[in-house]
Amino acid sequence: MLEGKVAIITGGTRGIGLATVKKFLENGAKVALFGSRSETVDKALAELTPVYGEQVMGLYPSLKEESELAAAFEQVKNTFGKIDILVNNAGISSSTMITDYTEEEMDKILNINIKGVFLCSKVAVPYLKETKGVILNTSSMVSIYGQAAGCLYPMSKFAVNGLTKSLSRELAPFHIRVNAVAPGVTGTDMVTSLPKEVIEPLIQTIPLGRIGLPEDIAEAFVFLASDKASYITGDIMQVDGGARC
Ligand code: NAD
Repeated sequence: MLEGKVAIITGGTRGIGLATVKKFLENGAKVALFGSRSETVDKALAELTPVYGEQVMGLYPSLKEESELAAAFEQVKNTFGKIDILVNNAGISSSTMITDYTEEEMDKILNINIKGVFLCSKVAVPYLKETKGVILNTSSMVSIYGQAAGCLYPMSKFAVNGLTKSLSRELAPFHIRVNAVAPGVTGTDMVTSLPKEVIEPLIQTIPLGRIGLPEDIAEAFVFLASDKASYITGDIMQVDGGARC
């Protein structure tokens, strides 16, 4: 579904991001995965390169430094020839109560979850204008319902939805589509390490009766990135087993 496309996927070293990198590669895309550190990028490449060779590369620019991002995007273009798809997936969650937040924690969450998404999108746009490309963002079910602690996390994901909807309108004249996927509870390291007593009641709240797999989310990204979604823009696609709280 993505033959001939070139994608950048942030937070591509594990979890939903790594599953999306793999699905994009399986579907014929060339992929540049971005991670936070050389060690994690090298680890992901050590798994992927023996199978996909020069179809995959990895970089670790700081998501809050526009100049580092500009250099990284240019390196991807120089290596793969163009950029068709940006997946803004890197993100961190939080469960801190409002009175316990430090300014340091606030900056960390907002820098990755909002500033990083904004800057990557800004840097990507000139490349995407050339290819009539696609921006995809990882939002969350908490961007619709909020959550009972860690308010900066849903706050940041509401911002991601706002950017998605606004950019879909701003960039439509350039034939750039902008969508988000809002995962429900998804079985990445963070969730699978929870004890059974926490997981079981959680599953009871999901109509489809199971926690999502990273691959469930990755399939939605493949579809939205592909030409099969050529008339879809400004959507926040909920991939959450029907969970509504
Ligand atoms: P994860 O912790 O397994 O992966 C997070 C990714 O973000 C990693 O690849 C990491 O390298 C990257 N990252 C974190 N800090 C970074 C930094 N400072 N600079 C660059 N990259 C950084 O988590 P995940 O569950 O795979 O989450 C991926 C996305 O999905 C996030 O945006 C998250 O908010 C969203 N999400 C996850 C769930 C879930 O239940 N797992 C639900 C809804 C939304």
